[in-house]
Amino acid sequence: MTNSELVELERGKLLDERSHVESELTHLREFLQAEVDVEPDEGDAEVFEREKNAALIAVLERRLSDIDTALKSMDRGDYGVCRKCGKAIELERLEVKPDATLCVTCQQETERLNRRNRPQRQIEW
Ligand SMILES: [Zn+2]
Repeated sequence: MTNSELVELERGKLLDERSHVESELTHLREFLQAEVDVEPDEGDAEVFEREKNAALIAVLERRLSDIDTALKSMDRGDYGVCRKCGKAIELERLEVKPDATLCVTCQQETERLNRRNRPQRQIEW
């Protein structure tokens, strides 16, 4: 498989996932909207359900932005290149996580540093 074939394959996967995530988001937002009239003392189950959905929306929005970042890098032609060291990201990794922007080594390094101390500032790639 050539590199551009791989990119097209991953792009297809990402677009599929993107539309899935978007419809999920629409559904959850409609649900939250519909529940706005619920009285605060309607019951803990209702509140729990709403909080769970709000948290899920945050996760999905984050996911959507990761997907968009990957799609943009495909357009720029630097898809599959590690943002940190500039080496090619392992194909096995892209298979599992098509929107990965770091190679395994840099990802592990980043996670290690994040665990040790909170970053002073957000690094713009
Ligand atoms: Zn790297």
